[in-house]
Amino acid sequence: MIPGSFDYHRPSSLTAAIALLSDHGDTARVVAGGHSLIPMMKLRMADFDHIVDLSAISDLQGISIDGSTIRIGAMVTQHELITNDVLANAAPIIRETALQIADPQVRYMGTIGGNIANGDPGNDMPGLMQCLDAKFHLTGPNGERSVAARDFYEAAYFTAREDEEILTHVSFQTPGGGYAYAKQKRKIGDYATAAAAVLISRSGDTCTSASIALTNLADIPLYCEAAVDALVGSTLDDAAIKAAVSAAVDITEPSEDNRGPIEFKKHVAGVIIRRAIDSAIARA
Ligand SMILES: Cc1cc2nc3c(=O)[nH]c(=O)nc-3n(C[C@H](O)[C@H](O)[C@H](O)COP(=O)(O)OP(=O)(O)OC[C@H]3O[C@@H](n4cnc5c(N)ncnc54)[C@H](O)[C@@H]3O)c2cc1C
Repeated sequence: MIPGSFDYHRPSSLTAAIALLSDHGDTARVVAGGHSLIPMMKLRMADFDHIVDLSAISDLQGISIDGSTIRIGAMVTQHELITNDVLANAAPIIRETALQIADPQVRYMGTIGGNIANGDPGNDMPGLMQCLDAKFHLTGPNGERSVAARDFYEAAYFTAREDEEILTHVSFQTPGGGYAYAKQKRKIGDYATAAAAVLISRSGDTCTSASIALTNLADIPLYCEAAVDALVGSTLDDAAIKAAVSAAVDITEPSEDNRGPIEFKKHVAGVIIRRAIDSAIARA
């Protein structure tokens, strides 16, 4: 499989990259790790005259922690997310999730920005970012803005990002308490049949805060508000957990595909959500 011909650009600044996108409109597309875009181009499901490589732009690199705020540059690879011990200490759910993405070869190249901006319901980082209540920072011809991860996804492959905007970094507050990212997949290295990101904090026996988000159980990642409400204020007893799982499964809208029929996916969702909540409680 060979993609159609295109002009390759490798700007060294964000300003130059945005100028290229502005000049060439929807005939141009940025490439980060290339592990989603290039396969689509090889299959001729995507065709662009101009490819703008983001790898020489230093502003898009790096992981930093300032007080309780964590900032991750868009070009940080999944491999870096796994191997950065300071990040793993501050937000261990990031490493737990990144380790379940694809395989090491893909993770050496695939970036957090590409995973988030892609809008593929199968990508794992969007659900995780909703669980963390992250903010996505975008820069375009009209300046900078930020969008909450929970407001970013509109439909499969459609997001709040304008064509000429570049995702520069994500930021979120250091999560406390227990955490888990549980994922069911058909084989090693596969996308999720169902996955759940969970954060739980408690004081004594009482759940003081929770966050639950799902991957690949609808066209977009799902933040499960009713499930959170079922847990917060409870003693995290079996009845409360069952109510939370049921509320989370209720909002799923999976479609039938080669990962199984709808009823099967909803069943797997229930198992995975329960598993993630139990693990997060055990670590809280
Ligand atoms: C065999 C295989 C298995 C995989 N399994 C999984 C899996 O289990 N879970 C998972 O989550 N992913 C999986 N992936 C996807 C992989 O993690 C990709 O790397 C990732 O989804 C896209 O990141 P990228 O950096 O490669 O982006 P690219 O492919 O370069 O770009 C993807 C899209 O995002 C846009 N984009 C990229 N960066 C930016 C930016 N900074 N600002 C604006 N737009 C941007 C591009 O224009 C493009 O439209 C798999 C990939 C392969 C090949």
